[in-house]
Amino acid sequence: MMAENKLPARNEDFSEWYNQLVLRAELADYAPVRGCMVVRPYGWALWENIQAALDGRFKATGHVNAAFPLFIPMSFLEKEKDHVEGFSPELAVVTIGGGEKLEEPLVVRPTSETIIGYMYSKWIKSYRDLPVLINQWGSVVRWEMRTRLFLRTLEFYWQEGHTAHADAEEAKEEMFRILDIYYNFAVNEAAVPVFKGTKSESERFAGAQITTSIEGMMQDKKALQSATSHYFGTNFAKAFEIEFLNKDNKLQLAETTSWGLSTRMIGAIIMTHGDDQGLVLPPRLAPIQAVVVPIFKNDAEKSKVMEVADRVFKELKAAGIRIKMDDRDNVSSGFKFNDWEMRGVPVRVEIGPKDVEKNSVALARRDRPGREGKSFVQQTDLSTTVAGLLVEIQDALLKRATEFRDANIHDAKTYDELKEVVKDGWAFSYWCESRECEAKVKEDTKATTRNIPFDQPSEEGTCIVCGKPSKRKVYFAKAY
Ligand SMILES: [Zn+2]
Repeated sequence: MMAENKLPARNEDFSEWYNQLVLRAELADYAPVRGCMVVRPYGWALWENIQAALDGRFKATGHVNAAFPLFIPMSFLEKEKDHVEGFSPELAVVTIGGGEKLEEPLVVRPTSETIIGYMYSKWIKSYRDLPVLINQWGSVVRWEMRTRLFLRTLEFYWQEGHTAHADAEEAKEEMFRILDIYYNFAVNEAAVPVFKGTKSESERFAGAQITTSIEGMMQDKKALQSATSHYFGTNFAKAFEIEFLNKDNKLQLAETTSWGLSTRMIGAIIMTHGDDQGLVLPPRLAPIQAVVVPIFKNDAEKSKVMEVADRVFKELKAAGIRIKMDDRDNVSSGFKFNDWEMRGVPVRVEIGPKDVEKNSVALARRDRPGREGKSFVQQTDLSTTVAGLLVEIQDALLKRATEFRDANIHDAKTYDELKEVVKDGWAFSYWCESRECEAKVKEDTKATTRNIPFDQPSEEGTCIVCGKPSKRKVYFAKAY
């Protein structure tokens, strides 16, 4: 039974490892409609922790939440040419409502720039109304053909921020401020190391003038775009007439931005930290940070062990640690260990009869399976010990992921080298920023430009494809 319960090894079938892990850790399940996802309570608890970490950061920088409708008139999407071109292949459209054919078809929102732009044109009249800094938590629908749980589904959950500003400089500052929030969240909460940078013209959001992103490397060395922040200039303001009277009493178009992070981030966490035993969660986001597993063989042992286990549980809970007691008596301890490993709980607190006698407990760290990650500590002041261990695990996960990423990025200097490198890693190379050179790389290798990081070497170089002078380097990688 144990053998067939094992996940496929990551180095044998990464994709199947991922699919099975999502199901077995009970993060999500397949819905009856192809390509849709059911987020199960454990997965949703993880998402709630992601939401809380981001929401706090948004509010601390002056943003407020609101809710806009799911349905958008089809004509709204058609008002911004690039936007409609970019999104039309993915639209779900409602043509019948209440048994009647609708006069105008309604689009199920694939993103909300248009409807929010329409509302902003009603709300914004004067420079005194600016900036408007609104975020929405919700879901959107994009009719994707090839779907994967959390990574790409027909409907997914996210936040989308939409802001309007009096001038371009302020709007760009907003785009960068949010990108910094995403970066800070990914690194410090999810322990997912990412690069901040600008997307190429062809990878830009439909209707944006500048798209910035954070990009992480998964354990199969593919890139995952984990969040984006866009500057629209006046594109949407023109389309929706978001105009205001400026200080000189003249009508002026607003400058707008939008930015989003989705349940895809859960995919990033799984693929950055998971191992062959299952999920490995960063303590700061883990729904359960530590699980107490009492171990006993008979009733006499049980009463002694449970007394200590209950006390430990209460102490850790009082210290603010998200703790769970696993006192199931229908499964073995071995089963419980595997079960919590599959779910990625950072710390397991094992308490057996010998521990009761010695005033000790065994702590097992999820990030280091087996004996290496096990320590025996005193029960005295256990909450301090566990809290310290959680911090240590959080740091260790980020360090390990960063080392892995950096070891798999190569400074390709020739085109042949680039072709070789992107088979199993990322290339960091000079690029002339032309669509032609970018398309050639994609055609030859399936690798795309991920982003042009803000961190650049001081010297200039030559394009890896055409040899023309180039000012900036870009990451090339295969991507999700
Ligand atoms: Zn070139």
